[in-house]
Order: sequence, then C-alpha cells, then structure tokens
Amino acid sequence: MTCVESNLKRSDPLKIIASSTGAVSRFQTNAGDVYQIQARVLPFLIGFVYLVPIEGGWALIDSGSGELNSNADIESGFQVVRDEFDASFRVEKIRHIILTHAHIDHFGGASEWSRRTGAGIWIHAFESRLVSAYDACARVENMRYVQYLLESGVASEDVQPILGGFGFKPGRADQAPVSRKLYGGEEIYGMKFFYLPGHSAGHVAILFGDALISGDLLLSKTLSQVWPARMVPQTGALNYVFSLKELERIAIAFEERFGKKLTVLPAHEEPITDIPCRVETALRSMERRNQRLLKILCEADAPLCLAEIARQMYWNGRPNREFFALSDVGCRVELLLQLGILEIVDSERLTNETPVLRYKALLSDAETAENTIQQVVRMYLARNNPDTI
Ligand SMILES: [Zn+2]
Ligand SMILES: [Zn+2]
Repeated sequence: MTCVESNLKRSDPLKIIASSTGAVSRFQTNAGDVYQIQARVLPFLIGFVYLVPIEGGWALIDSGSGELNSNADIESGFQVVRDEFDASFRVEKIRHIILTHAHIDHFGGASEWSRRTGAGIWIHAFESRLVSAYDACARVENMRYVQYLLESGVASEDVQPILGGFGFKPGRADQAPVSRKLYGGEEIYGMKFFYLPGHSAGHVAILFGDALISGDLLLSKTLSQVWPARMVPQTGALNYVFSLKELERIAIAFEERFGKKLTVLPAHEEPITDIPCRVETALRSMERRNQRLLKILCEADAPLCLAEIARQMYWNGRPNREFFALSDVGCRVELLLQLGILEIVDSERLTNETPVLRYKALLSDAETAENTIQQVVRMYLARNNPDTI
C-alpha cells in the first residue's frame, strides 16, 4: 500500500502523512505518531477521532456519534492504520476512550467502542452524567430549553419541532459508565489535560508532544457553537473567550519553552498551526456578530425578542438549525446584557404566561459601542496578570 505525502504548508511543524484513501492521517508528533480517522458523524458533519500511543496500547480520543456510518467509518479507519501504517495495531489494544466533551458527534459511539474493546471511558466531571445518565440529563435539560425557547419568543406550537430538530432526546445515545472523571491538570501516559469550557461545560483539550487534540474548542474555518451560560452553565461567551485566550497562552508558552510551534488537531476541519492568529480572527468574527446584533437592535422600531433577532441574523428556514441560531444569538445577548450594553424592557409585565424577554440597546448608535469582545479579553488579562498581589 502507498502513502501520499500531504502537501501542507512547509512551515507546518508536524509531518503529516495521509493514507491512500485520505480517510486517515498520521501526525508525527515529537512524542509519537498520532492517527486521525475521519467519520461521517452527522448527516451534515464530518468529524475526526484520534488514536494516541500510550503505555501498553492506545487511547482513542473521541468516539464518533454511533449514528449513520460513524462506527463503520472508524472501524475501516482502524483497518487502514493497521494495513498502511502500523501492523501491530489492534482494536483490542485500545485501553482508554477519552472524550473531549459530551456532544453526540464526540461521545455517541463511546458505549459501543467501550463494549468492543473493554476500554474505560474518561470525560470531564461536569459532563460525566451526560455519558452515564444521558436519558435523565436529556429530560431535565429539555425542560430548561422549553423555558428558554418560550422566553425567546418562540410560539408554543413551534417549541417541540425546534427541540426535535436539535435532537437532544432520551434514547438517542447508549448510556455507559464513566471510568475516570477528569478535572484538568492531569498528566497521564504523556498526555496533559486542560480544562477549557465554553463550547461545552466540561470541554478538555489534550496535549501530546507538540500536538493539542482540542475537540471543538477552536476550528480552522468556522466559529464553534457557544450556548448561553443561562442555558448550559459554564458555557457562554465569557467562558469561551477566556478559554480561547488560555489556548493562545498555552501555545505561546509552549513555543517559548520548547522552541517549537504547537499544532491544534481539532475534531472537525483542518489542523491549526498559527494558534494566536486563529484565536485573533475567531475573536474578530465574534465581535462582528456582536456589532451586527447591536445594529439590528439600534435600528429596530421597537425592542426585539431573541427569535426576532435570530430571524434577522440567521434564519435560513432549516428547522434543525433554529435551535443553534437561537443559542448563538442568546449567548451574544447574554454577554451584552452582562456588559451593560442592553436592557430588558417591560420587565414589570413579565409573567409565567407571557414570559417573552425583549431587549433594547442602551446606545444611540451601534458605531459607538466599544469592542465588546475586547472588554472580555481585558477581564481575562486582568485576572491572569502575574503582577497582581
Ligand atoms: Zn461540540
Ligand atoms: Zn463536534
């Protein structure tokens, strides 16, 4: 079998070798070879799982969705690893399944791979119940989401179709016991774990050699989904920006210490080699969206609810995206409220029967709004200033 040298930029610090089909890539880190296996995890989404060499075998990082061809794609990826790269690889040598976070495209396959390999499942403590008690979590969270949608101004008859499009429902994923809860800061088998919440409540990234396997923390092209912290505690724009700045700090510290660039290996899209630059462009994209939202509110004849703002910003008629649009707008509105740039109007009229929250910008002109993301960055820098007593 032949291997094709991938033609990535010459400055890439990691040597990357793609398999003959392109479905598997070998990343030669300075701690050992890591394999990236591609799978169709959702109808509209390709994802990656990673094999990391550890003492006595392998760790599988993320597990696909367990839906569509996800398990089959991963299985054929394992075969490619064995046929084209490492004849000693066996599925049974997977000793641990480590989840970057408990979104379905990352953990839905965990129970199946755990059964087939005997490997235990590791995940951050904050998301361990999502893996071990998915059905109960889905029931409770959906009640919270119903309230959120009603407050957003979604008509009551549209609530269930929108939640159905999102698909966080009991029975969707097989529940499985968690063998180890992570907290961040662990160093195990040459892997170092960082707790970086925002995209999810218990998101971790895993440093192995000069690669950081980073789940959905930062993608090379698109902005990661962020939820309002009011809906999913420990997420929200503030936590997400803090985690991006923390990622940038880790990348800079790594380069200073080892004289080598760190490469981010995300769960979707391309590897990222210039981390500070990508963090900067992601923060700028977040700011552009915040300014667009402020402009919509400033130009509106009357205060708007989240559903009305989302319709102007994103609505594209695809029901399975409505929940994502409302979450995206919700996390931005939450931040702007926190920063004192918006207010909720008519609060005295709110009742359980008429819970719709309407927002108004406390600005005469959106152009005068100070860079909102930079306000959050300033908080991060102040909190992490080593000169502070
Ligand atoms: Zn995710
Ligand atoms: Zn994902």
